[in-house]
Amino acid sequence: MTPPPGTSGTPLRVAVVGSGPAGFYAAEHLLRSEEHDFEVDVFDRLPTPFGLVRAGVAPDHPKIKSVIRVYEKTAAREGFRFFGNVEVGRDVSAGELADHYNAVIYAYGAPTDRHLGIPGEDLPGSHAATEFVAWYNAHPDFADREFDLSCERAVVIGNGNVATDVARMLGLNREELEATDTAEHAIDPLADNGIKEILVLGRRGPAQAAFTNPELRELGEMIDADIDVDPADVELDALSREFLESDDADITTRKNVEIFNAFATQQSEGKPRRIVLRFLRSPVEIQGDGKVERIVVARNELHRDESGAIRPRDTGERETIECGIVFRAVGYKGIGLDGVPFDERRGVIPNEGGRIVDESGAQVPGQYAVGWIKRGPSGVIGTNKKDAQETVDNLVEDAAADRVPEAAGAADRMAIVELLTERAPDHVTFEGWQGIDVAEQERGKPLGRPRVKFVRVDEMLDAARGAAVSG
Ligand code: NAP
Repeated sequence: MTPPPGTSGTPLRVAVVGSGPAGFYAAEHLLRSEEHDFEVDVFDRLPTPFGLVRAGVAPDHPKIKSVIRVYEKTAAREGFRFFGNVEVGRDVSAGELADHYNAVIYAYGAPTDRHLGIPGEDLPGSHAATEFVAWYNAHPDFADREFDLSCERAVVIGNGNVATDVARMLGLNREELEATDTAEHAIDPLADNGIKEILVLGRRGPAQAAFTNPELRELGEMIDADIDVDPADVELDALSREFLESDDADITTRKNVEIFNAFATQQSEGKPRRIVLRFLRSPVEIQGDGKVERIVVARNELHRDESGAIRPRDTGERETIECGIVFRAVGYKGIGLDGVPFDERRGVIPNEGGRIVDESGAQVPGQYAVGWIKRGPSGVIGTNKKDAQETVDNLVEDAAADRVPEAAGAADRMAIVELLTERAPDHVTFEGWQGIDVAEQERGKPLGRPRVKFVRVDEMLDAARGAAVSG
């Protein structure tokens, strides 16, 4: 008699689509499960794993990137396989995954950016910050982007951590950049950039900024950039004061306000650049003759909306600011995948605790979501650990209640490999990735850099094949 699914004779087979933090934490929770025996295959569209830890975290934050060691331990567990350079939706469909696995966990994040919806947003020189981030992090899809950093003033829209990353990267000097794994193609343009002022605009006030404390504090500790905050700009309005004094204000917000106040008293040290933070300003139009030359901003005041949230409201007052480049750091956005339910408005896969639900609210058997595509683009890397735990707990509960489908192809672990050999013959295993990893580090050694990243998929595949041959 065949043992029941989920026991060591017939493990439950799970596909995880996306190899960023959420995908890796989901894999880890499954492979550590004491209730069931799982085998996990993690897919990624790129030959390289780790999602935004590789292509999003700023290069001057190596400590944050060291979380990769945790993921490497997951990858070393029995029952784990990685299939890189496989795009779900192109090389294999969601339906085919459902045929080959008892469960599929979607963990593909929020790959695009939110828009401002203002005139001039698409002028040359107006960029999604997410694309700039991907470019300086050597994401292959963005390697050929060009950013003209010759102007004197750059404007960064948004008060989240991506805005701080962009502001910092524009303010690092050559020596600082060369100590990082910044894409080779980005080092000269960043190090030689002509920008004297990096102006960061928040549409609400200091007490509503989305920065986390260490990221904000760093802006005041740049070697080659002064921080510049007008004391009048950090004076809180009555609503913000009331909020800050209430139990609703968290410690991060209170601390942020303290840091802004400290910035406002910080004297300029005459450094080559300055990072200026201004609040209650919303972009209303980006203008210029064929490229960005200026931005028109509205002056806002704060009010409480019907739900009680503190929102910005246009006062009607306008200001025009000369600038040569604009980075829109107003958030990432999820996109849909054929064959998987999607909530266009929220940019997430509709789900209840990670269980994917269809339009009628019914659970789609065997389909789950984790990370940004589950909850939206919020939180730090560690947030995904708990998030993935919730989904995996629900998956385990479903398995125990016999609610996980008996997929026809799940019994044969090699069936998916056969399919991939046909559809995506250049797929990369975790061993292949390790070959890429070693090769990148070797390239960095003569330059005293942690690694020099490959930016072309072909180069990555060559390095992966080298590992397969020598391994
Ligand atoms: P975010 O934290 O959501 O910040 C987005 C910012 O854009 C907010 O200040 C928001 O203002 C503003 N915004 C939205 N729509 C706007 C509009 N139409 N006009 C003007 N401003 C607008 O997003 P993020 O910076 O992209 O970061 C995404 C997530 O990754 C966050 O959870 C972040 O903490 C995380 N992250 C962490 C690190 C790190 O830990 N070092 C680094 C990078 C990113 P409102 O608040 O008024 O909506």
